[in-house]
Amino acid sequence: MEIHIIGNNVGGTFTAQNIRKQNGDAEIHIYSEENHNYYTRIKLPEIISEQMIIDDLIVFKQEWYDHNRINTHLNSKITKIDPEAKTFLIENGEQISYDKLVLAIGSHPNIPPITNARESVGKGVFTLRNIEDALEIRQYIKKNHCEKAIIIGGGLLGLELSKQIKNCGLDTRVVEFFPRLLPRQLDVDCANMLEQEVEEMGIEVELDAKTDKILANDTIEGILLKNGVIYEADIIFIQAGVKPNVSLAKEAGIDVNKGIVVNEYLEASKKDIYAVGDCIEFNSQTWGIIPACIEQSEIAASSILGKKEEKYKGTTPKTTLKIVGIDLTSVGVHDPEEVGGGWEILKKADRTSNCYQKIVLKDNKLKGAILFGKKDAVSFVNKNIESEVSIEEIRKAIEAYIYKCSNCGAKYDEAKKDISFNDLPEDWQCPKCGSSKDKFSKIEE
Ligand SMILES: Cc1cc2nc3c(=O)[nH]c(=O)nc-3n(C[C@H](O)[C@H](O)[C@H](O)COP(=O)(O)OP(=O)(O)OC[C@H]3O[C@@H](n4cnc5c(N)ncnc54)[C@H](O)[C@@H]3O)c2cc1C
Repeated sequence: MEIHIIGNNVGGTFTAQNIRKQNGDAEIHIYSEENHNYYTRIKLPEIISEQMIIDDLIVFKQEWYDHNRINTHLNSKITKIDPEAKTFLIENGEQISYDKLVLAIGSHPNIPPITNARESVGKGVFTLRNIEDALEIRQYIKKNHCEKAIIIGGGLLGLELSKQIKNCGLDTRVVEFFPRLLPRQLDVDCANMLEQEVEEMGIEVELDAKTDKILANDTIEGILLKNGVIYEADIIFIQAGVKPNVSLAKEAGIDVNKGIVVNEYLEASKKDIYAVGDCIEFNSQTWGIIPACIEQSEIAASSILGKKEEKYKGTTPKTTLKIVGIDLTSVGVHDPEEVGGGWEILKKADRTSNCYQKIVLKDNKLKGAILFGKKDAVSFVNKNIESEVSIEEIRKAIEAYIYKCSNCGAKYDEAKKDISFNDLPEDWQCPKCGSSKDKFSKIEE
């Protein structure tokens, strides 16, 4: 059987690896329009700040592919698929036949409708998706002696990039459309704590700031917000999410919507074509994170080999901010719209040490968490996500306690409060009998 995989990053390589693990005979080919085998995109900002070199990013070197008998085709852009003839075309004119075809073609940066944005890309306005982008940015900063940077987008990628741009010695400002940082990963309380830490690193943060226009003459001058405010910059980054790559599939008559539509076996709408990774849409959802690619690749591999035992059910979103000095992980549902109806929240908001740990339950099942400033509960959450957990286990994991008034027996359950007991002011009094704070002591329930 000849299996051809378009896309040589997380989705493509993990699919190839999982196929090889289950089948020693299949002939596997993997194609990329890029010039590198599988490398991690996570560390791209460090290429800009020269804290890493390209070789540090490569996850699987050529020897790995050779050892697993996976044929690599770099610099090979696929321009057309013919699902009826079961062939595809490489940019150099070569036509290839396949038994099974996997689309692992990823996603591209979203550019919001900002005047001048699209036409300025590469001329002082940049997005960051691949090694070539990172090298181009580094060269632009040096050549133009850039001093002031703006990052449009205060999501994970925007913040991680801002730290590395700051490390390059530029004045750095993050401009976020929403009224808080990481709007998709954090609630308001935690976003405020994060903002404080980011600003302490010397990065300016502007929230609720809607960019209207890129200001440019011969060179980039800055941005104009919808409220009339102007911020100066000589380099601008747009980090405003990603969009699945769908055009190759669409032109082949494969069903696409936001992404390439797949079923629970990762099958696309045309026979013997599968899709995995950032490019897919399953149950009206797209992902854009590595854990989803890895999970999908296991099911796709089995499905390609005719073993339809396991079904894909979607991946719980999980993200960790990778900025030295800030510990932040957000998993699953972190801010249920209506508390009640089975939803329950337990937290420990320790403002003195800028730590915030929030656990979200539904019908006693762990549905999500925000863990900021402390990593201790991360493994507990990863292990128990979507499983039943007891309140006692959670209290132990996040170190949230109940304190009892020795005078009247009133309880202060910090897991249900916005302030931890230690953070209460010294003149705080028991709301029931007026006793002072020192009349309370920790109890085990
Ligand atoms: C700066 C940055 C930081 C990130 N940090 C994190 C993180 O911390 N955690 C996390 O979970 N995720 C992170 N991500 C997202 C993560 O990198 C993606 O989810 C992952 O790379 C998706 O893998 P993929 O294989 O689906 O697609 P991609 O990585 O996009 O790879 C698809 C490949 O297919 C190639 N291709 C596309 N079309 C064709 C064609 N027609 N012919 C030939 N080749 C083609 C592309 O060139 C590309 O090499 C980050 C991404 C970036 C850019």
